[in-house]
Order: sequence, then structure tokens, then C-alpha cells
Amino acid sequence: MTYHDLVQDLRRALPDGTVLTDPDLRRGHQRDEAHLCPAGTPAVVVRPRDTAQVAAAVRVAAAHRTPVVPQGARTGLAGGANTPEGAVALSLTAMDRILELDPVNRIAVVQAGVVNRTLAAAATAHGLRFPPDPSSWESCTIGGNVATNAGGMRCVKYGVTRHHVLGLEVVLADGRVLRTGRRTPKGVAGYDLTRLFVGSEGTLGVITEATLALRPAAAEPLTLVAVFDTTSAAGAAVSAIAAAGCTPSLLELVDRTHLAAIEAYRPMGLRTDAAALLIAAVDTGPRAADDLAQVEQQCVRAGASEVYAATDATEAEALLAARRLAYHGMEHAAAAAFPDGNGGVIVDDVAVPRTTLAPVLDGIADIAAAHRVTVGVVAHAGDGNLHPNIVVDRSDPDSVAAGRAVFDEIMRLCLSVGGTSTGEHGVGSLKRDWLATELGPVGVQVHRAVKLALDPENLLNPDKVLPTR
Ligand SMILES: Cc1cc2nc3c(=O)[nH]c(=O)nc-3n(C[C@H](O)[C@H](O)[C@H](O)COP(=O)(O)OP(=O)(O)OC[C@H]3O[C@@H](n4cnc5c(N)ncnc54)[C@H](O)[C@@H]3O)c2cc1C
Repeated sequence: MTYHDLVQDLRRALPDGTVLTDPDLRRGHQRDEAHLCPAGTPAVVVRPRDTAQVAAAVRVAAAHRTPVVPQGARTGLAGGANTPEGAVALSLTAMDRILELDPVNRIAVVQAGVVNRTLAAAATAHGLRFPPDPSSWESCTIGGNVATNAGGMRCVKYGVTRHHVLGLEVVLADGRVLRTGRRTPKGVAGYDLTRLFVGSEGTLGVITEATLALRPAAAEPLTLVAVFDTTSAAGAAVSAIAAAGCTPSLLELVDRTHLAAIEAYRPMGLRTDAAALLIAAVDTGPRAADDLAQVEQQCVRAGASEVYAATDATEAEALLAARRLAYHGMEHAAAAAFPDGNGGVIVDDVAVPRTTLAPVLDGIADIAAAHRVTVGVVAHAGDGNLHPNIVVDRSDPDSVAAGRAVFDEIMRLCLSVGGTSTGEHGVGSLKRDWLATELGPVGVQVHRAVKLALDPENLLNPDKVLPTR
């Protein structure tokens, strides 16, 4: 069967306007935001509006033995949504309805294409919130968040996406529709299939609907900033804050490289003379002032040269807005650092035990210096989740090779201290080899057995997470 047959069969099975073949549009759906990950042009972009249309598209693709890559907003940073040449790009962005928001049972039922910010606004209107808040929250979708088990700045206290998914609707590789989980806060019936699909990165099924647990919205938090002369001292402060039993609702680290990049991208008066800033917040409540004082004390003991509290909610929000600009700031700085805007960023994402943060931060600096490569670090530090962002000249093979060597050494370092190869961005195509190292042979076999049981023809997002045998 030919490309022409595939498109014709999809058009027969789906309503007008759902099957798109415009070359520019197809090229636009090749990849996510990760630099240096392979991608080909999809044969067709399918934009379904409901679950039945997703199932129909998957059935036609299966009949043509054509790979299907589920896509949300393509803000991913691991190449997970990148398409192989000739695949079906299955974009869920038109499935953007909040189907139910029940403030008494504190749940939301949403289609996969609902944008994180849209759900946040709807929950806020009922005095509730959906805690996972990736910095891309203004555009990323709930389907993408579930498929990558996304984290964010406020996950240090309330947990990541996994902790807020009660149930899912999933279209399987043969077009059957599976419902997992439940609507109740408690429930243990059957295997936990919901968790199997959370973080499966589009390789086991297409998520079409999610039932999500909401929490009461916290009142405006109290926020402080601690200034450090070394990044490792900031790391040591994070360990000390945890050891003292504090539970901040946010604990973020921004290093000098990122402070300079953010300030150059959008001037905000950040302390670019600091080696690192820690931004901490505690939820408002009877203990808030004491909690914040404890955090401050631990920062000072760990060597903070200055600690100041945000004067009001506007200043606190400005600090978070600056932190959210870290990635785009670095992209901008990297582009400017090399001729013709060829600079790029290999975004890394590792998680280590909090107690190892200080030596790991020193280790990353040593690796960068040894290879003479610029590496900036931002971190959801309270979770031990680091983003070492590696600057390379994409037009220079030697620079790219040096960047990749730095990437590999950072991975090795983090695994050696009991860490993991990805804290929140997922494996995609960027980290397949490192996942195999982390899982070990038996872990790889079990992963392959699960994939084979659910997708025997290897049609759903093939070659992601683990390479096809
Ligand atoms: C500036 C910036 C900041 C970011 N900050 C964070 C952060 O703080 N925390 C964090 O965790 N991530 C962050 N990210 C990464 C990214 O935003 C998240 O991984 C997000 O969850 C991806 O959502 P998406 O809708 O863009 O999914 P996509 O990028 O389109 O897809 C991501 C993966 O999920 C799969 N997928 C998407 N939708 C579905 C579906 N309906 N069913 C099955 N599989 C699906 C895709 O195949 C792919 O493997 C950031 C990215 C950027 C650009």
C-alpha cells in the first residue's frame, strides 16, 4: 500500500479537516523542542476531536503498518514527539475540552489536549489547583504531562503528575479503547494500569482522557531568595533544609550562567554577580513565618551571603517568572555565543539524592571545565532534579562531540551516586542508551515484554524509550 492509499483511507475514516497533508504543516510537526535529536517528516498530520476519531486513525495506521507518534504541544525536551520519516503525526491539540470539574469530589476529567494553564485557571475558579506546573505550563498539554510524568516548580511538596492521575482513557495500538483507574481518592482494584501509562511517552497507547485529582489552592506563599558564592554551597543548603524537616512548597536553584542568560534575554534586575540563587517558598498558614525563618537559617548556615524575602506577591511572582525563562534565556544566549546563531543547548535532566547535591554540582563544574564547554545549571533543587544545560556550536562537529561527552559524563556521575537518567523530561530518543544502563538486562527484558504485549507490531512511537530490537 502506498502513501496515497494511507491518506485516502484516513480521509475515508475521519471527518473533513482532520487529515492534513500540507508540506509546511507536516514539517512543522517533525519535532519537539530538543536540539540534536533525529526526526523525519511525517506522511500526514491527523488532528482528531474525540476518542472515536483517535481509534479510527490508529486502526487505519495499523492496517498500513505505519508508525503513529502521539503529539501534544511538542514542548518536550527529549525528542519524544519527533516523528520517523513517513509516520502519522497524531496531534491531540484539538481535543481541548474540560469535560467535568467536580469541586466536591475534587476531580477534573479532561481531554488530552487541554493546556495545563487552562486547567489551572478552571481549577482556581473553584478554589482548587492541579499542582504539576512545568515551566512550559502556558502551552504544554495534560496528555503530554501524563505521557512524560511531568514535574515542575511546585512538585517538591505536592508530587509530580503521577501523584494526581486517578484514571485514564487510552486508545491501544489495535484501536481498542481501554479505561484504567477510577474516580475515587482510594481504590486498589486490579493492576495499576494507570501508572503503567503515566510516563510511557506514547509508546504503549494514546491517552485521550484523564481523570485528575485536584487539591485545595494554597493561599499566597511567602518567598525568599538566598544568594550564594558557590553553587555547591547552595546545594548544601538544600540538603540542610531537608535535614531540618522543613517542607518548602518550592525550592529552586538558578546558577550564574542562567542568571546572566535570563537577564540578557529579559532584564529583570537579577543578581548576576551571584554564583547561584536559591528561591524558596512556603505555603501561607499558621506556621509559615516559622517555616520561612527555618529555611533562612539553614541557608545562612550553609554560607548564603545574603537572604531577602519577597516584599509582596508581585515580587514573588516576578522571581518565578524569571526562573521559568531559564530555558529560553539559555537558548538565546547559546545562539548569540556562536556565529550565525548556530549555538544550541543540549538540555539535560537528571535527578540525584538531595544529600549528594553539593558534590554533584562540583562534579558538573569539573566536567565542564575539563572539556572547556559552557554548562549552566538550573534545578528543581528540593527534588534533587538538575538541568545541566550544555552549550554547543551546532555547526561544528567537534563542539557537538564535546557537548555529548559532557552529557555522558554527567549521566555517569549522577547514576554513580544513586541518581536517575531523567527526573521529568523523559527518555525520548535522547536517553535510550542511558535508560538501558540504568534498568539493567532484566529491567530491559521486562520493559520489552510490556511493549510487546501492548504493541506487538511496534507501531506506537517506535524507537523511543528503548531502541527497537
Ligand atoms: C521552556 C520549557 C520549560 C519546560 N519545563 C518543564 C518542567 O518544568 N517540567 C517538566 O516536566 N517538563 C518541562 N518541559 C518539558 C515539556 O514541556 C514537558 O515534557 C511536557 O509534559 C510536554 O507536554 P507536551 O504537550 O508539549 O507533549 P509533547 O512534547 O508533544 O510530547 C511529549 C511526549 O509525550 C507523548 N504524548 C504527548 N501527548 C500524548 C498523548 N495524548 N498520549 C500519549 N502520548 C502522548 C509524545 O509522544 C512524547 O513522547 C519544559 C519544556 C520547555 C520548552
